[in-house]
Amino acid sequence: MECIFCKMSLGEIPVDKIYENDNFFSIKDMNQKIPGHSLVISKKHFEHSLDLPSSLGIDFFDAVKNTSRGLMEEYSAGGFNVVGNNFGASGQEVMHFHFHILPRKKGDGIKLFD
Ligand code: 5GP
Ligand code: ZN
Repeated sequence: MECIFCKMSLGEIPVDKIYENDNFFSIKDMNQKIPGHSLVISKKHFEHSLDLPSSLGIDFFDAVKNTSRGLMEEYSAGGFNVVGNNFGASGQEVMHFHFHILPRKKGDGIKLFD
């Protein structure tokens, strides 16, 4: 299996998990677009949101909320963005389900939609 996120999920690559539940785990992104930039990753291999069973939605939002809450405290952020790239045309590079969490501060200069 050549999928980097599967290797993390299976423990073949050690990772510092900042949160996990039965179906998802969260880690800091290795390429910090902003301090605290993190990823919520499915434990099983699904390529993108359209492959993720809707029944996992509750655990997904649990992971998003707990990861974001922790990041807001750790980085004294005033908010956060949740961003999912789906399929290559949107910029998805790792073809294993994940969402980005970006802790935000007023005036931090990040423009997501420009
Ligand atoms: P996307 O597929 O949504 O474009 O982004 C994939 C993200 O995964 C990138 O932001 C990239 O920096 C991150 N990433 C890829 N490989 C690793 C890794 O081995 N460790 C960590 N922490 N992040 C990774
Ligand atoms: Zn995978």
